[in-house]
Amino acid sequence: MSDQYRLLLNESDIPRQWYNAVADSPAAPAPVLNPQTKEPVTPEFLSALFPMELIMQEVSSDRFIDIPEEVREIYKLYRPTPLMRAIRLEKALGTPAHIYYKYEGASPSGSHKLNTAIPQAYFNKISGTKALTTETGAGQWGTALSISCSFFDMPLEVYMVRVSYDQKPYRRFLMEAYNAQVFASPTNLTQSGRAILAQDPNSPGSLGIAISEAVEVAALSNGQKKYSLGSVLNHVLIHQSVIGEEALKQMDMAGEYPDVVIGCVGGGSNFAGIAYPFLRENLRNGQRTRLLAVEPNATPSLTRGVYDFDYGDTAKMAPIVKMHTLGSDFIPAPIHAGGLRYHGMAPSLSSFYDQGLIEAIAVPQISTFEAGLLFAKTEAILPAPESAHAIRAAIDEALKAKETGEKRVILFNLSGHGNFDLSSYNAYLSGRLVDYDLPEEQISSIREHLPLSQSAPVA
Ligand SMILES: *Cc1c(COP(=O)(O)O)cnc(C)c1O
Repeated sequence: MSDQYRLLLNESDIPRQWYNAVADSPAAPAPVLNPQTKEPVTPEFLSALFPMELIMQEVSSDRFIDIPEEVREIYKLYRPTPLMRAIRLEKALGTPAHIYYKYEGASPSGSHKLNTAIPQAYFNKISGTKALTTETGAGQWGTALSISCSFFDMPLEVYMVRVSYDQKPYRRFLMEAYNAQVFASPTNLTQSGRAILAQDPNSPGSLGIAISEAVEVAALSNGQKKYSLGSVLNHVLIHQSVIGEEALKQMDMAGEYPDVVIGCVGGGSNFAGIAYPFLRENLRNGQRTRLLAVEPNATPSLTRGVYDFDYGDTAKMAPIVKMHTLGSDFIPAPIHAGGLRYHGMAPSLSSFYDQGLIEAIAVPQISTFEAGLLFAKTEAILPAPESAHAIRAAIDEALKAKETGEKRVILFNLSGHGNFDLSSYNAYLSGRLVDYDLPEEQISSIREHLPLSQSAPVA
């Protein structure tokens, strides 16, 4: 065991292949359905939105997928990211636990999102896409895709959830610096946006609505524009596996192996990124690491949502997938972790949760910010509010270890820094943050709005 703070790899340690956990799932994946016909989607349907290479990855059952050298070259700008041992946090907690974190905020966009933005822009470019459309919540995804599109000289339209557009203006300026065009969603530029505004002219927006707008623009572009999603889909989770593959090597350098791996979950991509390579070690090599997904109380899709087929977006234009969901018309409370305000959860992660292979908890907003600030004061990095959910859980695990006197090894993913989230911290520090809980009525009515609700078993 080493007592190093920073565990650093070389450029040559950047993975050469992504890992596809679907290949190791004991349960077969559920089909993806066409939102109009409710029959399994055809590649033609998906090809209106995505280039063929990404569709092939989406449905792939290969365990490993080669990372193109062009993508690896760009990864070299910031990968491998550091793995840190949080020695000062351990001391502040007085815990015998060892706490490690993988720092994805070290990327130029400030989060893990660049890991998939680069290959998505690359595969679109080589297949002739003229421009991309996308949604963004807090702006992390929009920023990452803006950088990637500027590398490949592709125009980008970003539909940004209105509440974040208002709360986080600097994210917009950053996207514009890389030439992206940014709109506050709902807009009156699309049919989906206009329908929402007609009901509520002051709609705060949601990721579900912004996805509808971006999908609509791509679908109506005669193949000129394609759509790019920053989370949820298999190909996104596959790209994020570089996080966990590097972390496996770095834990090895540290001479330890994690008892628990923790990540926050919005659509599930950064959690899958760090956790799936460890899940493979559980499933194939006899390891027994607990994998813990952490979501906000305000959008508890894993811990309180239903596991069934649902639309990926509000206007019901995106494919129907089987996932843990709060319903595609769910408008989440305006919590500051914008990246965690999605109604659904990645299908593979939902399935692993359903199979009992991963665990999940939900945490309240205020104690999450408390944890984020304790981390900032000990480890110096101000975490993104999303990432602070993982920190809350890691601290709680470390405090449990203190109670029992166990030497537990805890690894969590620090998905991003919070340097553009200062208005959220200001809200916390000036006592303006509140906790949101979801009324039981809202949960019990989810099934009524599901696309296949007649055939769904009543909970
Ligand atoms: C987008 C985002 C998330 C949530 O998305 P996942 O797909 O669940 O990872 C978490 N943390 C940060 C910093 C983000 O930008």
